Amino acid sequence: MDAAIVTVGDELLVGDTENTNATWLCGRLDARGVTVRRVTVVPDEIAEIARVINEYHAEYDAVIVTGGLGPTHDDVTMEAVAAAFGRDLVANDEAADWLAERGYSADDLVAETTHLPADCRPLPNEAGVAPGAVVESAYVLPGVPAEMEAMFELIADEFEGTQTHTVTVDVDEPESELLERFTELQEAFDVSVGSYPGESVRVKITATTADEAERAAEWVRERSELTDPEN
Ligand code: ATP
Ligand code: MG
Repeated sequence: MDAAIVTVGDELLVGDTENTNATWLCGRLDARGVTVRRVTVVPDEIAEIARVINEYHAEYDAVIVTGGLGPTHDDVTMEAVAAAFGRDLVANDEAADWLAERGYSADDLVAETTHLPADCRPLPNEAGVAPGAVVESAYVLPGVPAEMEAMFELIADEFEGTQTHTVTVDVDEPESELLERFTELQEAFDVSVGSYPGESVRVKITATTADEAERAAEWVRERSELTDPEN
């Protein structure tokens, strides 16, 4: 299964808010074996949001959209999702009932709070108010991290892919010294290799079985200067 993440918010694009939602979702999806192919940040603008949702819906198995769900004028994500799927935004009784059960009467809420794309599956917001929604394979979640995380847990089971196994080896050599070794490694084992330079080079070896990842890691350890694990 592959997926794309669309994070919505002007505040992300001016550097006011760090995009921790994208990082958190990438980690959770990767842990479930789902390949994340895109992370995109878009402004709070209907046309921009709808355009990327459309494109990613056609390209990937699922699209997760976060941010811009509130009822204020700058929150236009639900309108954009409705537009992307050619649906109207309509009052959703299930979402209104769920909020009523939690003590929010229609009078307390801005009406638009429970306006969702027609024929969607509403998602309750257990950590806040604004509901999320599932439209075909697009999942629309709030922007507030605690709300987004709680809502993702409700749908996590719908995201499943091939489990992979990763072993990391910290190598104390310049990255340029490792290139040939990586080529040989990938010829000898069925693995993908990432290298992340910092004080040392963190080599990340990923395979579909734990055994293959460990055998490849051992191959690297035998041929490399390793960082002292005591330091
Ligand atoms: P609400 O229902 O509370 O209005 P919302 O779904 O409309 O929430 P936003 O208005 O987009 O969400 O953002 C609410 C807060 O969540 C913002 O203060 C912002 O800092 C934070 N936030 C939004 N998007 C992200 C993100 N991608 N990563 C981290 N924090 C975010
Ligand atoms: Mg917003």
